[in-house]
Amino acid sequence: MYDDDNIFAKILRNEIPCKKFYEDEFSLFFYDIAPQAKIHILGIPKFKCVDLGDFISKADKNLVTIFFKNISLVVEKLNVNTTGYRIVSNAGKDGGQEVPHFHIHILAGEKIGPLR
Ligand code: 5GP
Repeated sequence: MYDDDNIFAKILRNEIPCKKFYEDEFSLFFYDIAPQAKIHILGIPKFKCVDLGDFISKADKNLVTIFFKNISLVVEKLNVNTTGYRIVSNAGKDGGQEVPHFHIHILAGEKIGPLR
């Protein structure tokens, strides 16, 4: 079940500040507070969903399409298409998810190490 008090829900309600990179009516991309790479951006849909499965099963398919297109747009805006990047989405306990609002990490700006 979705927790309205999670940190990203508060960021979406402007109750907690964040350093925005890109925003439209469907999604918000902002800098991670504890970056794991030179460039570390988080992307979240403006839709109450806990993880990828929740997003795909509940959101209108247009929103799903727009969110994933926006990931690609942000990658272009970051200008890392040619140098490369990694996209990660953690889900649940085994995935190490800390914030229970579906999000993707974009890691770039340097060689990203092995997954683990
Ligand atoms: P998860 O482990 O859930 O995939 O990732 C959550 C991410 O959110 C972590 O990388 C963490 O640094 C980031 N984070 C947690 N709290 C805040 C916050 O208040 N602001 C920002 N910008 N990032 C946060």
